Amino acid sequence: MGNIITINSSNYLINFTMTNRLFLVSALIFLSIACSNKEESFGETEITKWQYGKNGAISLTYDDGSINQFRKALPIMNRLEFPGTFFILTGAIPGSEYQGKFIGRPVETIIKETASIPTNKENFFERASAAGFLGYEGTIEYHSNAGGLYEAGKVEEAYKVMDDLYQKVRNGKFKPGSKPSNEVLEAKGISWDDIRKYAEQGHEFASHTITHPRLAVLDEVNMLYELEKSKEDIKKQLGEKYTFSAEGPYGTEDERVMEYAYKIYPALRNRMPEPFLEELNRSSKALPGASEKEYVQWQRGALSKTPYDLMKSWVDTTAASDNVWLVLVFHGVDGIGWEALTSERLDEYFQYMKAKEDKLWVATFGDVAKYMRERENAKVGVAKESNKIHINLNHSLDKKWYNIPLTLKTYVSPDWKEVQVKQGDKDQKVQSSEDEKGTYILYQAIPNEKPVELSRA
Ligand SMILES: [Zn+2]
Repeated sequence: MGNIITINSSNYLINFTMTNRLFLVSALIFLSIACSNKEESFGETEITKWQYGKNGAISLTYDDGSINQFRKALPIMNRLEFPGTFFILTGAIPGSEYQGKFIGRPVETIIKETASIPTNKENFFERASAAGFLGYEGTIEYHSNAGGLYEAGKVEEAYKVMDDLYQKVRNGKFKPGSKPSNEVLEAKGISWDDIRKYAEQGHEFASHTITHPRLAVLDEVNMLYELEKSKEDIKKQLGEKYTFSAEGPYGTEDERVMEYAYKIYPALRNRMPEPFLEELNRSSKALPGASEKEYVQWQRGALSKTPYDLMKSWVDTTAASDNVWLVLVFHGVDGIGWEALTSERLDEYFQYMKAKEDKLWVATFGDVAKYMRERENAKVGVAKESNKIHINLNHSLDKKWYNIPLTLKTYVSPDWKEVQVKQGDKDQKVQSSEDEKGTYILYQAIPNEKPVELSRA
């Protein structure tokens, strides 16, 4: 049965030290009686896989912060009470302290050097980092293209893109000035005041860097600037809470980028290295049912031409499985942003999810990541009396981040139709339900707080 009495919390210790021995003895006596009769499962407690005991989780995530995500999609989500996660480009928002720039040697020096030294392993990251900030319009695309080739393993071709760019710069083929990436241009229109308002409504905001670069081809100092300074602006404008999640642009899974980024953000949509989690990225053709792992993060990108039946089937699969976290990735909405979907389609799609809400936990990326990690690192201690169950719930993670309630499922006596659930000052009555194993209740408990006390109401 696996019932353990753990005494971890100091409050628990104060409350129970005096009666501890007696309590332990009576609990053990009760345990031996309980095991031999029909109330075998009394007190048995598990943390449900997903919050509220749902079958699966869905996170609705949006990249690049284009304006219709807020004007069109967000109100639909508010109407249906679905929280979203928005990965935003901080450099595009007025009032941000940090804008895109190149940190390094004077670009004139770099440009001059390209006339005699072809792009190679030693100078590639510097040239790719500077590419969008040479003082001309239309050069940022060369950075993006070189980055795409580099990440596809076409390193020599990526070098050629840089050689081509710098040759054109030297030959005066570009108009002087500067022009940011399309993503930054399309992210105009939102203010930090707006974002604060949406955050208060329950939506998660998280970094998608300052300027949407190909992080994999930036040198160390420029990569850190994009990651750290974006975080700094978010922290200043929204608070530290919103620096938990992040997404490196283009869904990068570059090892070097992941190593730097994980020192700055606790959770990346790009990749989560937990041993209990299988990741199927947006390009994966594998189905989540094939996985043996405790959890599967199944990322799907809904693009303009994605058949609606396919989009619905992702939701169906999640609701019919028990270990799937469907992470949907949206970009443009109603013509603004990459691969835009119509707001009518989104409305229809979100309503489809709403109709299956009894099986689905729709939550922000950060909350689902926290829930899984808390659960995987938590210990449940159960102490039983004939008319009471004491539950201790603790985890070893950093409490600054990992503070969301976990759902517990505890088997109670068949005659406990309604159960009093007490934790600290919180007190609620919960109706019991039945499954093949017995009578149980589902309830929310906060880890690392006072023990939960269950009794017949
Ligand atoms: Zn993006």
